[in-house]
Amino acid sequence: MDILPPESLKNEIIIPNKILMGPGPSNCSPRVLHAVGHQVVGHMHPEVFQAMDEIKEGLRYVFQTKNDLTLAVSASGHGGMEAVFSNLVEPGEKVLVAVSGIWGSRAADMARRYGAVAKEISTEVGNDFSLAQLENAIQNESPKLLFIVQGDSSTGVYQSLEGVGDICHRYNCLLAVDTVASLGGVAFFADRWKVDVVYSGSQKVIGCPPGLAPISFSPKAQKVIQERKTPVPVFYWDMKILGQQWNCFGGSVRPYHHTVSSNLIFGLREGLAIIAEEGLENVIRRHKECAQRLYEGLNRLGLQPLVAEVYKRLPTVTTVVVPENVNWRTVVGFAMKNYSLEINGGLGPTEGKVLRIGLMGYNATRQKVDLVLRVLQEALEHPGTRVT
Ligand code: PMP
Repeated sequence: MDILPPESLKNEIIIPNKILMGPGPSNCSPRVLHAVGHQVVGHMHPEVFQAMDEIKEGLRYVFQTKNDLTLAVSASGHGGMEAVFSNLVEPGEKVLVAVSGIWGSRAADMARRYGAVAKEISTEVGNDFSLAQLENAIQNESPKLLFIVQGDSSTGVYQSLEGVGDICHRYNCLLAVDTVASLGGVAFFADRWKVDVVYSGSQKVIGCPPGLAPISFSPKAQKVIQERKTPVPVFYWDMKILGQQWNCFGGSVRPYHHTVSSNLIFGLREGLAIIAEEGLENVIRRHKECAQRLYEGLNRLGLQPLVAEVYKRLPTVTTVVVPENVNWRTVVGFAMKNYSLEINGGLGPTEGKVLRIGLMGYNATRQKVDLVLRVLQEALEHPGTRVT
């Protein structure tokens, strides 16, 4: 061989066990880990097709929709975003992106790569959009699609979606929603809120490893895809073909599109089953109660959430203002070094300004809230975290 086996691969692998309480991924339950740890099964085998069918049912439950075209793309959350733009916009068409943090900026970038004209409206960091702001922008721009994030994990802001779909449809605009950081942690009603496409990620509240992005298209969005003048530019995201493999159109054959990971499929099936067993209302309530407990604890520690009004706070990701005399990197490092606990600094517009604490799925428990508060208190009392 010209190239020798790498020395690094001769060492035994060390996989640490960490408590993931940043903005995601979150830890998986033992039941999900058991499901993903099985022997590989063929992606066209009946057991995998059955699990895919059960996932579709589970996703219709968590998205609260009757949409036929509901499935999971083989990718992290970004794959859901890619699938939105590659399927629903064609070169030269206009989209409006509501930028409340890094995800809107990413979406606008992505839309432009597909040849769309992306217009942006933004809100100040730590705030949401009002219906009037959204309506004004839609009226001015007449876009084909509005992209908005329900739970912005870079700012910790929860965006209410009530009424947004009505406005969009009044102006013949499709509504696309990112729920990667929010789905399962707050209520979401795809049909009731007239959402045309919604996507999420498997690794947050759903409590699975990263690698699958649930997505659902309304009948209206499905029609837009069917009537495209140009082919979907990326084969991998093409819902016309992928939807057949997931048997969303009621056909008798399920053609091969790509090799779906049976391990991730079984994991997602179990993640959704756990949510179905607990009941979505209870899951949402658990996240709300945990967030409330976190806010109270932060208050006792003299720490201030970035988002002032409680109703605008995302329960799954809390952004905490870094006090002036504190070095956020040292706090994050202290938690990891002493407790194998991940909390994170800011991202995008909040970089260097906040700590981000995640309470998601398996980790949304009182015990984990108390743990993160205890670790924060210790870190803040530690002389090394103070900026002198
Ligand atoms: N949107 C939001 C709101 C997110 O929080 C994230 C991930 N943190 C993404 C999109 C991108 O997801 P992924 O990293 O799984 O690709």
